[in-house]
Amino acid sequence: YTEETTSTIRTTCPYCGVGCGVLASVDATGVVSVKGDPEHPANFGKLCSKGSALAQTLGSERRLTEPYYQNKQAVMQQHRPIQLGNDFNTIDISDEPLTKPTDWNNVLDDIATRLNDTIAKHGRDSIMFYVSGQLLTEDYYVANKFIKGFIGNNNIDSNSRLCMSSAVAGHKRAFGADLVPGNYEDLESCDLLVLVGSNMAWCHPILFGRFLAAKKIDPSKKLIVIDPRRTDSCEFADLHLPIAAGTDTHLYNGLLHYLEQQGCCDERYLKQCNDVDLALEAAKTWSIDKVAQACKISADLIRQFYQLVAANDKTVTAFSMGVNQSKSGTDKVNAIINSHLYTGRVGKVGASPFSLTGQPNAMGGREVGALANLLAAHLDLSNGIHRQLVADFWQAPQSIAPEVGIQACDAADAILDGRIKAIWIMATNPVVSLPEADKFRRALAACDLVIVSDCSVDSDTVKCADIVLPAQGWGEKSGTVTNSERRISRQRALKPALGLAKPDWWILSQVATRMGLAGFDYQHPSEIFNEYVALTAYKNDPSQVPSISNQPRYLNLAKDLPMPILNRADYDVMTPFQWGDQRITMAHSNFIAITPSDSASLPNRHQRRSRPEANDNTESDNREHDNRRDKPHNGHSSTVHLRLITGRLRDQWHTMTRTGLAPQLNQHESAPMLTLHPDDAKQLGVEKGDYVQLHPRYEQNLPNKQQQKQRQPHNGAAVDSNTDIEVLEQKVIAQVAISDGMRVGDAFMPMHWS
Ligand code: SF4
Repeated sequence: YTEETTSTIRTTCPYCGVGCGVLASVDATGVVSVKGDPEHPANFGKLCSKGSALAQTLGSERRLTEPYYQNKQAVMQQHRPIQLGNDFNTIDISDEPLTKPTDWNNVLDDIATRLNDTIAKHGRDSIMFYVSGQLLTEDYYVANKFIKGFIGNNNIDSNSRLCMSSAVAGHKRAFGADLVPGNYEDLESCDLLVLVGSNMAWCHPILFGRFLAAKKIDPSKKLIVIDPRRTDSCEFADLHLPIAAGTDTHLYNGLLHYLEQQGCCDERYLKQCNDVDLALEAAKTWSIDKVAQACKISADLIRQFYQLVAANDKTVTAFSMGVNQSKSGTDKVNAIINSHLYTGRVGKVGASPFSLTGQPNAMGGREVGALANLLAAHLDLSNGIHRQLVADFWQAPQSIAPEVGIQACDAADAILDGRIKAIWIMATNPVVSLPEADKFRRALAACDLVIVSDCSVDSDTVKCADIVLPAQGWGEKSGTVTNSERRISRQRALKPALGLAKPDWWILSQVATRMGLAGFDYQHPSEIFNEYVALTAYKNDPSQVPSISNQPRYLNLAKDLPMPILNRADYDVMTPFQWGDQRITMAHSNFIAITPSDSASLPNRHQRRSRPEANDNTESDNREHDNRRDKPHNGHSSTVHLRLITGRLRDQWHTMTRTGLAPQLNQHESAPMLTLHPDDAKQLGVEKGDYVQLHPRYEQNLPNKQQQKQRQPHNGAAVDSNTDIEVLEQKVIAQVAISDGMRVGDAFMPMHWS
């Protein structure tokens, strides 16, 4: 922020992975207004409802503005989400203040001391960072460097784990690298767009608009939507396949078999691929009739879909959370990619698989290695040369640990069994958004030290912190983000930060420095960005001895295009990076054989409790649905077994800590309705607006206190059951909406509310 920046500032929307360019104007009184940036190559001047309302979210309301200490046990008791058990520890909160403000100098010193003490007492592996696709790349880079290079473990994971890890693993299996084979122009130049598990009209609306605009000019372009629900995207579709949730691999195995039968292979491309025979062998039993039976739709619909794919060389398959957030998500991704490899439709104009990222900077996090199994700059954590290269580059005091660190969904167990003693959560709200969120809340209650950096006081996770740090938010912080097509854009400060809020990279660097670590003396985010760029120089030539003082080849991670090193002034004024339309050459791609057992295996009851999945289904599950109603009473059933599908609403974002502030966004849907098929509503005897209670089909597997006392973590420390908060029953009470766009047996609820 500078005093001169009072007119129009070019920045990027902080919501979805489209990464739209925004022109923000700040008037003399500091009031901000926004419009789309006509020169940004993602959106060309357009913004969706969420982006258009950004200025309404910039007030001081509900903001964290100063660091403070918190009596988390007392605060959690006050803010417990539902009825707690009788054995909940009653804490006297009558007199003691729940929070105690502090200043940066004191709290940064204190955190540094406590982290050093934790390492001394419990070892380097006892600390974890949980970060977020809301962070800027510079924040991500510093967090990753701090814990992997200097604390000395790989216990850093991002909330991108929840939405993108299947896509990352699928791309690595197929292409040997976490790359993006398509770009946004492909959505306009394709002849057939297939959406799988993606309500693009609501979740990536500007990209959807780009396709529709191209279709308007050339109505012969076709749109197919594969989704259990009839979403708004279907309004524009030529074909909708309402397959049973979780049966995507069957559908795509059948497609591969059909393409083989129709002679649709690209022989020249297949010569570059491995294991095609294995994949075809696994697919060969999937006739159209068998697929129809598995997916629970008509064979005619499937035949139409296969015929359209076979007939259109320029096919783009865009997929998102309905594919990725699944226990068989990686198989689903590879089943889709298999069909593109077989037809040679990869990395060509208008022909590619395309993963739509959910968050504004899920990609930036992957690029700087902020997952427990990644290394910065897409170097390989399992490769000792790469680990040494990065450690040398950072001048880290020890080598980088070879073991994959603790991942997001395992964090609660790691805390509860005593492996993790201190966790630092940045810019995310995991006690709402993680699977088994209540267990994670209990884990935070039991953790010795919980630090939360965030912007909003409304984050439920803030209520679980021992130390709360005010972070700068959109419009205050400055740095870079990477969108779904891996284009890097700038987010810029528009106005001074509220209160004492600081950038995450600054907070992390200050703590690292106060812990006695060298290499964190950053004064400006451009210095961090340039360090990261310098590290990418060795991506393709790890034999080089790395040094920032060398003159390396600055490479874009996936596309081998020059990436600039910037001085501070340039960094402040540069336009979004433009990669042009150069294509990746994939010399060797891999087919993955998707066997029925891969996709249809049903976890045992314990696994199911451990990994609840929203968008999954299996043959076995479907058989259960055949017998899913309790005994009728007065013509109705008091209980119906439903599969709950979750997703986003058009006008809300994540847990609504930002979009919930914009009145116009709350008008679209003001409450989390439970949508049922009319037949299920009739069976239950409920009508639109009635209230129903949902509870999990499988009981909670919460250990009682006696069991907790008996459980011994690997380091021998006892679990402190006195701090455990037990939620005896998860349940949700919701109002009913009724839609014939649902499948019988499915229910839908938006994911945004606590
Ligand atoms: Fe923001 Fe996504 Fe909407 Fe673009 S499409 S304005 S990035 S929410």
